[in-house]
Amino acid sequence: MTTRWITTVAEMKAFAAETRLKAKSLALVPTMGALHEGHLSLVRRAKIQCNVTVVSIFVNPTQFGPTEDLTRYPHDPEKDLELLRPLGVDAVFAPSSREVYPAGFSTFVDPGPTATVFEGAARPGHFRGVATVVLKLINILRPDIAFFGQKDFQQMVIIRRLVEDLNLPVRITVCPIVREADGLAKSSRNIYLSAQDRKAALALSRGLKRAEEMAEAGEVDAQRILEEIHKTLAAEPRLQVDYAVIVNPATFEPVTSVSPGSVALVAARLGAIRVIDNLIFGPLGSSPELRLQLALTTQAPDKEGGAALRPETERLRLRIENCRDCAAVSSVTLPAREFLAKYLERDYPNLESVRVLVIGRCAPMNPAQFLYRCPEAPNQFANRVYDLLGVKTFAEFKARFALTDAARCHAAGPLVDERAVDHCTQYLREEFKLFPSLQYIVILGEDAYLQFQKHILGRGRASIRPFAELLKSEGWAQETVRLPWYGERDVRIFYCYHPAVETKKSPSIASHLG
Ligand code: AMP
Repeated sequence: MTTRWITTVAEMKAFAAETRLKAKSLALVPTMGALHEGHLSLVRRAKIQCNVTVVSIFVNPTQFGPTEDLTRYPHDPEKDLELLRPLGVDAVFAPSSREVYPAGFSTFVDPGPTATVFEGAARPGHFRGVATVVLKLINILRPDIAFFGQKDFQQMVIIRRLVEDLNLPVRITVCPIVREADGLAKSSRNIYLSAQDRKAALALSRGLKRAEEMAEAGEVDAQRILEEIHKTLAAEPRLQVDYAVIVNPATFEPVTSVSPGSVALVAARLGAIRVIDNLIFGPLGSSPELRLQLALTTQAPDKEGGAALRPETERLRLRIENCRDCAAVSSVTLPAREFLAKYLERDYPNLESVRVLVIGRCAPMNPAQFLYRCPEAPNQFANRVYDLLGVKTFAEFKARFALTDAARCHAAGPLVDERAVDHCTQYLREEFKLFPSLQYIVILGEDAYLQFQKHILGRGRASIRPFAELLKSEGWAQETVRLPWYGERDVRIFYCYHPAVETKKSPSIASHLG
């Protein structure tokens, strides 16, 4: 496979248009080049989530201040290409400054107050340049997903805000920080650090590590944790500290008490070189991805409130939302937030009562008709599901049954890559585990059948019988399967026509449901 080297906006637009025409999903990984493992982690993630990956390499002059290192920024396009080629990157977009900012260019994005503190205060105008170039790249490529690193935490938050505020039709995926073996966050600028400065720079990650240990040992006082970070930084006289703070990532306001999702941000200078690093606080032993999710879903303090979720439901909600956000892209009609957080908490105070999990599209293409939305006024879909299961009311339904659309969101949408579906399946399995007493699973319709067979039972295409043939004689079919990830228990599976999609109707399976 060749990696195309593209230098003009026109050619880049044509390449992206071609990709869309083939109904392939497009990933954009924006970089300034001088690539390292941190950048490559974004590329690998992009390759998993999209069909076509473009890496942009552009040292953006508008994000550098007049006294900053624009002219000295490392630049080695040949080496970059050598690193990207083996990863199967489809194209590199490496335009000149003139191509991005032609004569007469005069429009900039003002990214608002978050861009004026910390990095924004230390580098006035920096985020204005970043937001402008990212908006341009998104407009040129119109990618399905753009990938950013947690390493530049404030930048990533500003980009997410930009996408939301300006209604940009792109998803943002954020990847955790990649570090050197000794803890130093990888950065293109690290090559300019002398041996002594590099050693001094380690104080940043060391200070954050100390902070993490304190939090894990139960310390919640942000001031005490910050004192420890400052002490660690002060032990290296070569470091000139710009800031060390612990903030609520939704507001960038300092917090007094550290909680999961709070973020410690540190920045310092070693001569002319700036180094930055950050830490997201999270539950003991939690993965970097979960911590990112905690930070990205942290609410501004005044918006907090509402019923507390069961911790396992909340954890799963965050993880599924992450998965769905990035992978299912276009086909989600019922966000995990709604099903898990709202309806599951509202209707199932005791998840053990659920014996039968029903999986299938809710009310196709019309989430407003979802069974849980108006339980007192069942729609046609709900009534047909009730007939199939032998219940009359929502109260009877929720006493034994739960309906999830988890398989459905992956079943539709040509832009959803198969590998992304594989990746997401683990969350459906976890969703099952929320219900400890399942005896039966009812699969509604062909889409859910195929997804279930392939991604949950792990069957190869050749061994999956055509749906129509399977249901031909009885109008439904059943099998018992042992689910290794569900405590090695045997569960009986029923396959039925979808009550609102297929023209054929399954007879009631009520008498078979114990
Ligand atoms: P840059 O080339 O420095 O503009 O970075 C391009 C992208 O790579 C940004 O989204 C960065 O946050 C991300 N990135 C840079 N360093 C790292 C790292 N050590 N780990 C993860 N992502 C990184």
